[in-house]
Amino acid sequence: MEHSSFTSAAVLEDGPDALSRLQDRHGRLITDLRVSITDRCNYRCVYCRTGNVGAQYAELPIAAYVRMVRAFVDLGIEKVRLTGGEPLLRRGLTDLISELASMRTINRSPLDLAITTNGHLLEDQAWRLRDAGLNRITVSMDAVDAETAARITRVPGSFDHVLKGIQAAQRAGLEPVKVNCVLLRGFNDDQIVPFARFSRERGVVVRFIEFMPLDEDRSWTLDSVVSYSEVKTRLESLRPLVKLDPTTSGETAVRYTFDDGIGEIGIIAPVSRAFCGECSRIRVTSDGKIRTCLFSQSEHDLYAILQRGGTDNDLASFIRRTVIMKEARHHIGEPGFLKPSRSMVHIGG
Ligand code: SAM
Repeated sequence: MEHSSFTSAAVLEDGPDALSRLQDRHGRLITDLRVSITDRCNYRCVYCRTGNVGAQYAELPIAAYVRMVRAFVDLGIEKVRLTGGEPLLRRGLTDLISELASMRTINRSPLDLAITTNGHLLEDQAWRLRDAGLNRITVSMDAVDAETAARITRVPGSFDHVLKGIQAAQRAGLEPVKVNCVLLRGFNDDQIVPFARFSRERGVVVRFIEFMPLDEDRSWTLDSVVSYSEVKTRLESLRPLVKLDPTTSGETAVRYTFDDGIGEIGIIAPVSRAFCGECSRIRVTSDGKIRTCLFSQSEHDLYAILQRGGTDNDLASFIRRTVIMKEARHHIGEPGFLKPSRSMVHIGG
């Protein structure tokens, strides 16, 4: 009931165009889709996965992801980010990228097509991804020294692979490469200044991310989060920071450079400075379920509709009905907060 009355209100206020754009009941336009294309991963990062091997995997045929993404794009999605698990493990990845690169938004522009990877296999794949039509890449790297990196990924030698992957992406022209670092107190909070130097020397954008309660081991505590203000203070011990304007509306990172204009650092602070009011994201898990928030307690099975022979209209109306229910915000750190039943590796970060 509430949903249909909201829809009519949106149509009355904004005219018929409101019907063709995805919007939730809080008035947020949804333009950014993250799709997990596998929940397999070759790393077992301490903030994401348990150290135990032997989980069940869920992947769909590439054609199913294409069909689902197309349904979202026809409703106003402008950016698509492929993630996982580790997307570079996925057979058929370049075919998927080629298909997505040929799609057009409802404004007839090409999709903004990005991928998030741990970079382990990137040295071999960077050119192929670029040739297939990939626009942007984010590489997760949580330390700029080999020993700390191995302690976090639980894979010896990971640092060298990732570094070579970043260099290959730069050579392939996927610039600027973004490097994501999840900060964990006691693991890599000593890496803030070294990462700032890394950004300045290597020409990459480094983004520090606050640790969220999405780890399989359920070890998250508020104390383990290295907050926005702490990161900023540490960076300022290197050189004075200069704030940069957002590049897009709804940008999650607060961006800085240094007083000499060299280097770029973003701080993404979903815990200490939540940005839910600006959220324009929706997610599809590797098994084809829509998640309206990282911290949702329920999922919505889009693939089931496709499997039952659903038409494009069936997919579109299911997506609309689901998106409208997007949660107003998360409740991390509040009494009664419930961790989602699936961790980041299954949801897709
Ligand atoms: N395997 C790819 C990678 O490593 O980038 C893609 C999947 S990974 C789940 C996507 C992103 O989620 C990574 O940047 C990772 O650092 C981040 N992530 C995973 N668990 C997290 C957590 N508990 N808190 C914050 N970020 C997390």
